[in-house]
Amino acid sequence: MKLYLASGNAHKVRELQALARATSSGVEIESARAVGGMPPVVEDTGTFEGNARKKARALRAKLPLGGWALADDSGICVDALDGAPGVESAYFAGPQGDDAANLEKLARVMRGVPATQRGAHYVCILVLIAPDGAEHVFRGECHGRLLDEPVGSGGFGYDPLFVPDGYDRTFGLLSEETKQSHSHRARAWQALATWWSCAPSSALHEK
Ligand code: IMP
Repeated sequence: MKLYLASGNAHKVRELQALARATSSGVEIESARAVGGMPPVVEDTGTFEGNARKKARALRAKLPLGGWALADDSGICVDALDGAPGVESAYFAGPQGDDAANLEKLARVMRGVPATQRGAHYVCILVLIAPDGAEHVFRGECHGRLLDEPVGSGGFGYDPLFVPDGYDRTFGLLSEETKQSHSHRARAWQALATWWSCAPSSALHEK
């Protein structure tokens, strides 16, 4: 079964495709490009779930009958910034949505914050819309801390600053396999895959 992913973010597409392959759930992720690309969506709901619902609904409107729509809305919440940038993570340094500028700004605003106050967590909300319009929401979090300076070039976004709990290196340095087993996206995906494998056939009548 194909889930069409409501995202133009190539990193998210790649990570979710790999997660779907690894769970052998019988589900595969298809990029929105397969149906002409992601329609523009203003992410203005103020919540990860609200934005994910908007994106999933916008893509669903373009799908062939029987298509499943999936959206990922995610970001990083920093304790010392009262949870910012949170839902605004993609636009922390400005409306152009520049990953490198966002990373540089987070490192800058955290300069001088003591080690004991550098906690942060990633959040990922996945919204899945079934062919009959039923919406299902899955959440994953990954807790850790921020370094003073970015290290490594793996992952994307804020990964070179973020050290997950239980590790002493950033997601920018850790292997792809490690990120794929501990990340917020991996945890949200796991919740989806568990639901998928347990859902009654009436919920998955198109499965
Ligand atoms: P969205 O496309 O509105 O969901 O924004 C996601 C933004 O959150 C990205 O542009 C990144 O800045 C950040 N983000 C989400 N997931 C990750 C991740 O796995 N690693 C690093 N940054 C992430």
